[in-house]
Amino acid sequence: MTLSLQGTGVSNGVAIGPVHILQRDSLEILEYALGEEFIEAEVTRFQRALALVKEQLRFVRNKIPSHTQSDITAFIDTHLLMLDDSTLSKVPISIILERRCNAEWALKTQRDALVKVFDEMNDPYLRTRRDDIDHVVTSIQRELLSSPMYHHVNHIQEQRFSGHVIVADDLSPADTVLMQHQGIAAFITESGGPTSHTAILARSLNIPAIVGLHHARHMLIDFETIIVDGQQGVVLAKPESNMVQHYQSKKRENQQLIERHKQSRDIPAVTKDGKKIALRANIELIEDVIAMKALGANGVGLFRTEYLFMNRETSPPEQEQFETYCQVLDELDGQVLTIRTLDLGADKQVDGGRHDLNNITNPALGLRAIRLCLQDPDIFLPQLRAILRASAHGSIRIMLPMISNAQEVIQIRQQIASVCQQLAREGIAYDPNIQIGGMVEVPAAAVNACMLCEYLDFLSIGTNDLIQYTLAIDRIDDEVNYLYDPLNPAVLTLIANVINAGNKANIPVAMCGEMAGDAMFTRLLLAMGLKEFSMHPNALAEVKEVILNSDVTRLQPKAEALLNCTSHNQFQDLLDQFSHH
Ligand code: PEP
Ligand code: MG
Repeated sequence: MTLSLQGTGVSNGVAIGPVHILQRDSLEILEYALGEEFIEAEVTRFQRALALVKEQLRFVRNKIPSHTQSDITAFIDTHLLMLDDSTLSKVPISIILERRCNAEWALKTQRDALVKVFDEMNDPYLRTRRDDIDHVVTSIQRELLSSPMYHHVNHIQEQRFSGHVIVADDLSPADTVLMQHQGIAAFITESGGPTSHTAILARSLNIPAIVGLHHARHMLIDFETIIVDGQQGVVLAKPESNMVQHYQSKKRENQQLIERHKQSRDIPAVTKDGKKIALRANIELIEDVIAMKALGANGVGLFRTEYLFMNRETSPPEQEQFETYCQVLDELDGQVLTIRTLDLGADKQVDGGRHDLNNITNPALGLRAIRLCLQDPDIFLPQLRAILRASAHGSIRIMLPMISNAQEVIQIRQQIASVCQQLAREGIAYDPNIQIGGMVEVPAAAVNACMLCEYLDFLSIGTNDLIQYTLAIDRIDDEVNYLYDPLNPAVLTLIANVINAGNKANIPVAMCGEMAGDAMFTRLLLAMGLKEFSMHPNALAEVKEVILNSDVTRLQPKAEALLNCTSHNQFQDLLDQFSHH
């Protein structure tokens, strides 16, 4: 009988494929090919992991009370001896050098070879030594995996996830990117919400995805074929053949819809009453620029630069960042590129554990985004220099995330000014009139938008965080997903306040949170006076369709009535009018 499971659909599309369950406790070891220049660093990484495991074992050994059975000490001593033995300390290094692969894979190769020898032994005692090998190898693997080497990746050799539906308790944005390279068909996670960064990334990578499906790993079976409907949030296990046919045709329809939308790419987004609307793209990876160009966006409204910092141990150096920004500019052929300065922290953790956020009770309320950058000039200043240098080569705007007061903007402006002076002294070109905008994501910034306008050249409303903070719901906590409501009157009041503040100060106001890319809200936002929308490229065509069919002049009085409404029922009635207009 078919088993139907319901989660939260966060990225549209249908997938039909075998399940691959990721258990956090069992280590997933993949093979990566390394460039010549990374081999030495990889050997050092292996040696460091080995040294750390030895240190831990010695520490444990010293903690064993002297009256304890000597067996336990002997057990640890055996492991220490194994760590010194060339079969584990030297052979994996030769494998790294010969195969030019990652340390995890080299160690796994050697482990498999050793285990095979033990398995063939007749002596039951010696066969138990196999478990010791596994214990020691697992400890080293854990150390290695906690200091990932993904930045060495040239390409992923093993395509073991290709066509599979990944089922996990949670996936980090970094995992999601890596898996997309492996051609996964869809993913399902037990936790997470619709505006978590992993969900946003799934949409931008075009991977059907469902989050918040509790106990998925227990209810689904490895390798069984399932159907995933990323729009409805439905998973069907053991589907009947007519269901498979139904979803296959749905998959084809989706494909046709995408093709149809591509055809509208060159039509400008102008409302029926002649208002020109800017439709920009949110990008995370350089590949997104290609997608957005194919879909006809007017430049980039949000470049989430933190993805340049993911899957690597150290921050990308200034020159590398500069080259990336220039590369994006090249692709944009003169269209605007809005670069958001680093928004690390909360559910976007990178940087090789440099900022250990695990011990923070409320990471979303902690040292993240602009707060973290202001505290850590080693991360921030190279990025500012890279952006400013790139600004000499095209149209760039700087956008600051998570602003909560004017003082922060003043401080950043001072830092930007001093970087500019430094560049001028060095004879390096930059755009002296570069626009500096702020994201309105903290309710305080929305309420006080008019005062922030004094120091900013444009505003962009980040509804993902603004809704999280206004409604006090953690965007990655699936237990409170149901409270996520962009149409909550308090949220709409804040958005209206920001748009009005921008209009009064005569500075542009954009929206770049997920709300801007949901065609359900387009009419209302137009009526509220929004003229610039930035979204994941896949949403552009649908939003454009609504814009082409909307008459803003007629809608405006309804928006005014909605925002002045004091009765819940009346509010709902007025909202309905926007969807049926
Ligand atoms: C937002 O908060 O709405 C936003 C666009 O930023 P991010 O999703 O990257 O936090
Ligand atoms: Mg945000």
